[in-house]
Amino acid sequence: MDIIHLLPDSVANQIAAGEVIQRPASCVKELVENSLDAGATTIQVLVREAGRTLVQVIDDGKGMSETDVRMAFERHATSKISNAADLFALTTMGFRGEALAAICAVAQVDVTTRRAEDEVGSFLEINGSEVIRQEICQAPVGTNIRVKNLFFNTPARRKYLKPNRTELRNILIEFYRMVLVNPQVAFTLVSDDEVLLDLPKGTHKQRIEQVFGKSQRNQFSAGLVELRTDTDIVSIRGFVGKPEYASKSPQQYFFVNNRFMRHPYFQKAVLAAYQGMLPPEHNPSYFIYFDIAPESIDVNIHPTKTEIKFADEQTIWQILHAAVRESLGKFHMAPSIDFDAPLTELDMPQAAIDPSRLKQPSMTFNPNYNPFEQSSSAASTPFSNTPSMPRKHQVAGWEKLYDEPELKEELTLPEDIHPLQIAGRYIAVAVPDGLMLVDQHRAHMTVLFAEIEQQIRSGHAVQQQLLFPETLELSADDMQLMRQLQDQLLDVGFELEQLSSTAYAINSVPALLGNSAPQRCLNDILVAVRETGISAKTEWSRQIALAMARDTAVAYGKILVEQDMSDLLKRLLALPVYTKTPDGKTVMTILSETELEKRFSL
Ligand code: ADP
Ligand code: MG
Repeated sequence: MDIIHLLPDSVANQIAAGEVIQRPASCVKELVENSLDAGATTIQVLVREAGRTLVQVIDDGKGMSETDVRMAFERHATSKISNAADLFALTTMGFRGEALAAICAVAQVDVTTRRAEDEVGSFLEINGSEVIRQEICQAPVGTNIRVKNLFFNTPARRKYLKPNRTELRNILIEFYRMVLVNPQVAFTLVSDDEVLLDLPKGTHKQRIEQVFGKSQRNQFSAGLVELRTDTDIVSIRGFVGKPEYASKSPQQYFFVNNRFMRHPYFQKAVLAAYQGMLPPEHNPSYFIYFDIAPESIDVNIHPTKTEIKFADEQTIWQILHAAVRESLGKFHMAPSIDFDAPLTELDMPQAAIDPSRLKQPSMTFNPNYNPFEQSSSAASTPFSNTPSMPRKHQVAGWEKLYDEPELKEELTLPEDIHPLQIAGRYIAVAVPDGLMLVDQHRAHMTVLFAEIEQQIRSGHAVQQQLLFPETLELSADDMQLMRQLQDQLLDVGFELEQLSSTAYAINSVPALLGNSAPQRCLNDILVAVRETGISAKTEWSRQIALAMARDTAVAYGKILVEQDMSDLLKRLLALPVYTKTPDGKTVMTILSETELEKRFSL
């Protein structure tokens, strides 16, 4: 007897459903994507019990004919592609024709739909892949689909679901991924009769504000700067967070060709651009939208996978990294792009408006400005006087950006440099693709800090015995603190001896202090330690090193000879991190060739 037989469709669909529909959130995603594919401009999503008992999606898209709605629930039934070649020119979210078949295999589904050209709509009811009834009905144009009792016939899957709270969060996560890239569509999300999100149509920036603005104390988008770059390979638009708005729970989104994607490698490119700018454990938010020829990404994306493979990932890494750096740099030079202007009520209907912001002086602000449009409206942006560079230049400029560790070799200075001192404060030196400017005091402080730390770590502080011990008079509580600090001070070379209840003798000092008065340095150390908090003992060594480095670093106004400057630069560039001081201030900046060209463009 032959034993092989084909599985009935209903069983095959149930198995496939396991892949496509894992939880209510996947159901929301598939249905909303279908609405988007149908050209809807308004999409309402209603869920009950985090989607367990109901997921309903109502759209004003193109609807389905009586036959099509029946077909739609068959496996591999799709209106979106017809042959393999179409796969390379995808413009829709769906194309596999699997989702509805999968959903109706594991739920009780009904759908009401009408096309604009039909006088009546149709109603279809399916229960675990089995058609219960289909009839004509009155209906508005569009589609209204209800998915009830998900996994009613697959108890194992049902049991696998997480608590409602978690499933609802999963729904929100999927929802954000879709709404952030479709600001031209109005969305609402209602959960158990509570309106969770009500998002009118708007720009990308407004959508970000609608979604995240309310939960933040300040306007969320005020912490973002615009990003845009166009090359032959890819065009990148979006917003990146200002470093000082970095948080422990940042919002990080990549989209490619209107589809959300995860991309750990590109994420590194973004984060690398912030190197040295972020407090520990803080990360920036970003919303970055890639546009790329469909043939250079892997289109055959699994419905539940969000990783996407690009043909030329290394080049895009560089382009992205440079674009982020450029945006951050631009913002430092010209912080007043339109995000800093108060948004009008009209511009941002959903966000809570903080009245104190409205009183702030404002820049000229165009509420219709859409950074994603390249056309005429972009001409009114504050950057309109920066002519767009020829593409070649944009691509060339970024290759030599500096403080990404992988590219670090490029910053090794030539043997023979001729630095110039400017305003008693900056050191300027020509580097292969631009002009490097270094803050002399901060550079020296960074170098000294590294040396002191090294000494502390190795336990070999270079000490200098004083022939005539100095006296340090202290208040009672400073005496107390000094007593606690004594060991750590010894680690860096200060040898103190208590003389009385109000004074210490300073017998030895760190050699690096030279002839400068040790009292001042010790007082600064006390202040720094106090500011850090008496309880943060582990931080004390660092604060001591910082205060020492700050006190002994070359002051502003001190004239430096060429040799001093080149030595300083070489020591600085030998450090693993040299673009920021240990307390996060900018040590150096590079005026790139591109920026120089811009200055000479008129
Ligand atoms: P896919 O989206 O991959 O084509 P689906 O199973 O999700 O597969 O949908 C099958 C088909 O049903 C779609 O190709 C589309 O023609 C139709 N369809 C589904 N949802 C809608 C909707 N909301 N409005 C109009 N047509 C829809
Ligand atoms: Mg689909």
